[in-house]
Amino acid sequence: MTSASPPTAPTAPARPRVPLAPVLSVASFGNAGAARPRSVLDAGQARLVTSGRIALALALRELGVAAGDGVLLPAYHSLSMVPPVLWRGATPQFYRVDGAARADLADIGALCDADPRIKALVATHYFGFPQDLPALRALCDARGIALVEDCAHAFFGEFAGRPPGAWGDYAIASSMKFFPMYEGGCLVSARHALDAVQLHSAGPGFEAKVALATLEHSFAYGRLAPLRAVLAPLMGAKDWLWRRIKARRIEAGRPADAALAPGSSDSDASFDPRWLDKRSSWFARWLLARVSGARIVALRRRHYLRLQQALGALPGCRPLHATLPDGVCPWLFPLWFDDAADADAAFARVRRAGLPVVRFAETLWPGVDAARCPGSVRLSRQVLAFPCHQELDAAELDWMTARLAEVLPEVQPPEVLPA
Ligand SMILES: *Cc1c(COP(=O)(O)O)cnc(C)c1O
Repeated sequence: MTSASPPTAPTAPARPRVPLAPVLSVASFGNAGAARPRSVLDAGQARLVTSGRIALALALRELGVAAGDGVLLPAYHSLSMVPPVLWRGATPQFYRVDGAARADLADIGALCDADPRIKALVATHYFGFPQDLPALRALCDARGIALVEDCAHAFFGEFAGRPPGAWGDYAIASSMKFFPMYEGGCLVSARHALDAVQLHSAGPGFEAKVALATLEHSFAYGRLAPLRAVLAPLMGAKDWLWRRIKARRIEAGRPADAALAPGSSDSDASFDPRWLDKRSSWFARWLLARVSGARIVALRRRHYLRLQQALGALPGCRPLHATLPDGVCPWLFPLWFDDAADADAAFARVRRAGLPVVRFAETLWPGVDAARCPGSVRLSRQVLAFPCHQELDAAELDWMTARLAEVLPEVQPPEVLPA
């Protein structure tokens, strides 16, 4: 595997009628008096970067992962996790996870036995539910390899008495998945100083782009209407300015669409090392400090339980996790379908109905197949996950749960026979 370009995932659906990810609203700042719940930022020293994948690349660099080394990645993965490993010149090795998305410790041990150059293990807390951290920590210590906690789905929580990320040598997270922001990720370490990770602003164009993109996304879902009216002239000016910049680039013979933002913000799996030394924008850092964490945790748990109640007993499917343990702040509500063809049909119906849905790991890295890991192949096809984020308002949540309960179990209409 030499290429760093990830396989392309199936095209994203048209924009669903309710937001798939958090959008900024006045309510985002509510509940300010409440104590801040534990998050990955409490695990140790932290550096705020522009995405989770950049944080992962920095963690591997800090660990000294180099050409010829091996890095253990879960067979059930986001495509964005692989290019950082390739960027180091290292080889990704995919370990098994079982049907409940738990890391297979025996398989990890076997892979370590087979390859003495394995340097690190990346463990993902899927959908916000923790892996067995004491066991993974013990395994890594026994093998002399590093543990990187992938908290992309677990910004908040408490796992075996510690905040997310506190068991790893390093932890990474993706703020965009939990906060109403356009870019953001963090690198955290409970065990190592991060002095060598020096960051600077990506420049005024990026700073402006993040603020405007965050607001535009929010306006598109009917949030912050008074601000939208006030900012309308500014937004017009921005569109005019952007057209000018593009025209100038074309005149200068440069590509018109040179990226002003990392690929992570556009939901693709690309990796661009130019973002390695860039600090998260001022606006994203301001939001991270001001948006209420207590509200995020309380509402995500409440919305998750609401979806569990509405969808948990439908025929042919069940929640991936039987319960929502204390200390878990869910990313999405994952629903398991017993039959893969049923899951395909339900996925198509849900998207046609304009409902928001995620098929995490829908596309796996080439070579990761049922022979390497049957559990991952099943999870990638048979789990449909629905948003439970804090910015779903009451009407959106009512509409979404009611429509899902109708659409999910629907039987295909019988073919109409000609008279
Ligand atoms: C999203 C995601 C990442 C990468 O985060 P970005 O901020 O998109 O770069 C890493 N790991 C997992 C499991 C993810 O879902």
